[in-house]
Amino acid sequence: MHTLVEAEALQSRIGDLAGEINQEFGTVDLLYLIVVLRGGCFFAVDLAKRLRMPCRLDYIRVTSYAGSQSSGVMSLVSDIKTDIRGKPVIVVEDIVDTGFTMKFVLSYLALHEPGQVRVAALLDKPSRRRFDVPIHYRGFEVPDVFVAGYGLDGLDDTMANLPRIVALDDDAATATPAGLAYSMGA
Ligand code: 5GP
Repeated sequence: MHTLVEAEALQSRIGDLAGEINQEFGTVDLLYLIVVLRGGCFFAVDLAKRLRMPCRLDYIRVTSYAGSQSSGVMSLVSDIKTDIRGKPVIVVEDIVDTGFTMKFVLSYLALHEPGQVRVAALLDKPSRRRFDVPIHYRGFEVPDVFVAGYGLDGLDDTMANLPRIVALDDDAATATPAGLAYSMGA
């Protein structure tokens, strides 16, 4: 297990993303944060605490994932409870891997006829992308390794409470997440 993103770097980068959202949505009466469970919850909480406009949090849970590979089968486990029709929405996700989950979530939420929709993803694994999905607020790009911590489960569902992002593959020791440069001021 190797640390990919330290806790301080996570918090710093989330502060940057919140700043961008505060700029773009600073004038809205109410911003809707739709958190993709389970992994998006740590990110959503730390992001929401830094937003200056009133926010309403709601949650959607879908499943497509088995072990370290996406299964390719998607189902809705738990729906949002809020009326987002015509409202500004930010979908908050832990990681976009193949893009299948985000594509499904965005297509599904579109049925609720929201207003402006943005995507915030803490991690982006572009090397595995199969579905082209937008990411408007991106924390860190990570290599093609299975990651855990900060809301993301490890293979045994026990590592989500780590305050940092770790990689479980052996060859991750030398990999560096591309976004780290942002939070270190480079
Ligand atoms: P996608 O549908 O984009 O392939 O995968 C998105 C979902 O798969 C994420 O919400 C997350 O639950 C899970 N996932 C993808 N990659 C990883 C990873 O490296 N580690 C963990 N813990 N979950 C992942």
